[in-house]
Amino acid sequence: MHRFIVVGGGAGGLELATRLGDRYGETRAKRGKPQASITLVDRYPTHIWKPLLHEVAAGSMDPFTHQLEYAAQARWHGFEFQQGELVGLERAAKRITLGRVLDEDGAEMLPERVLEYDTLVLAIGSTTHFFGVPGAAGHSIALDTVEQAERFRKRLIAACMRAEHQTPEATAAAAQGSNDGAEPRVQVAIIGAGATGVELSAELRNTAQVLSAYGLHKLDPRHDVGIVLIEAGTRILPALSERVSSATAELLHKLGVKVMTGERVTEVAAGVVRTASGKDVRADLTVWAAGITAPAVLSRLDGLTVNKLGQLIVRRTLQTEIDDNIFALGDCAACEWPGHERGVPPRAQAAHQQATFLFRSLGDLLAGKPLPEFTYRDFGSLVSLGHFSAVGNLMGGLIGGNMLIEGLFARFMYMSLYRLHIAALHGYARMVLDTFAHWLRRTTLPRVKLH
Ligand SMILES: Cc1cc2nc3c(=O)[nH]c(=O)nc-3n(C[C@H](O)[C@H](O)[C@H](O)COP(=O)(O)OP(=O)(O)OC[C@H]3O[C@@H](n4cnc5c(N)ncnc54)[C@H](O)[C@@H]3O)c2cc1C
Repeated sequence: MHRFIVVGGGAGGLELATRLGDRYGETRAKRGKPQASITLVDRYPTHIWKPLLHEVAAGSMDPFTHQLEYAAQARWHGFEFQQGELVGLERAAKRITLGRVLDEDGAEMLPERVLEYDTLVLAIGSTTHFFGVPGAAGHSIALDTVEQAERFRKRLIAACMRAEHQTPEATAAAAQGSNDGAEPRVQVAIIGAGATGVELSAELRNTAQVLSAYGLHKLDPRHDVGIVLIEAGTRILPALSERVSSATAELLHKLGVKVMTGERVTEVAAGVVRTASGKDVRADLTVWAAGITAPAVLSRLDGLTVNKLGQLIVRRTLQTEIDDNIFALGDCAACEWPGHERGVPPRAQAAHQQATFLFRSLGDLLAGKPLPEFTYRDFGSLVSLGHFSAVGNLMGGLIGGNMLIEGLFARFMYMSLYRLHIAALHGYARMVLDTFAHWLRRTTLPRVKLH
């Protein structure tokens, strides 16, 4: 039997392993012999769709109700799951090494293991790029994992609770220090006004309002919780069109988010963010959302070639440059996008398209047919601005123009991206049930997760 290993159970890898398992693996629903063995590897035991992390950080989504257990998904969809972090590759022997897995007390739970493959797919995503800015890694929180998002949420709630019980003298002293005498009691600085930074800033405004309603009555959500978005470029959402950028800037202004553009951050220290123009921005909490890079392990994988960002260079077939048996997809792959200066962008949409493409082309590989080439189709970009709004452009790359959409319809389209991911993992019928179940649960859950 052909042995497929997919490393990385994220937006792309989990969809691919699920579909390969359904088609070629051993499932209870299917009769007959399996045609291939499929193993999914991830460093964690559970999956959450990464674009939800800003909602987790803001407390508006409880990650534990949206996480998926890899082991259960494997059982339902005919693949095996192995928990462990990819640490090594031997291409000639077609083997990968997974590091030891430790439990919460530091005791070994799973030993180092070696797995053998015939075809390997690497889908290990990306990680935050701090660009070597002093203090950035130590004094700011990134949003790569559920743990980081949860850490931010807990610190935010603690900061708001402290502010609620601040003495009147301390409040007056803080106001004196500010230029306009109206210094917020809690200030969050978000560095990087790409989609993640913008979405988080809008979501936090909603969180502040809910917290004030949930007992922090002395906290004025608009004036006591300051949100500052700091961007080095000349406008927010630099990767999107100017129209989307200016429409979003207007909406953020209405939400009371302070936007600072053209400000390159040179240092992050305890309680302050410093910029190249000499500004010191007070920050009780700092989030770093200014860029991504590929996981470092990729540049140590037995000679596989990487680009400047450390992403694996792949051909249009998604095979790595020097090894036909190793494919890469999603954020960790650098794939050409014909007719565009830049390659395929690091987005969930691209990871999904590449997973769908690879599912078909790995079928061709099993059948001994030549492999097709991947073409990315840009269906537009949407940026969520809280629960009732989103803004973005749809079909831009397909119809050759920008169809700007905003408001509730845009929000609905934004949410449907996640629903499509759920449908890819569980099928359309279970996706509808899942949506209904979450809608029902919302009626008995707080609007912001407090503990
Ligand atoms: C807050 C936030 C909001 C976003 N919003 C959007 C959006 O609105 N629209 C959009 O299109 N994109 C959005 N993105 C980007 C999107 O999440 C990524 O492009 C997408 O998740 C990439 O999919 P992937 O499969 O390549 O990697 P990921 O989904 O990141 O999955 C990688 C997987 O690999 C695992 N892994 C990592 N290293 C190892 C290792 N060494 N060994 C084993 N396993 C490993 C990880 O645990 C993870 O499960 C957002 C990202 C963030 C952080």
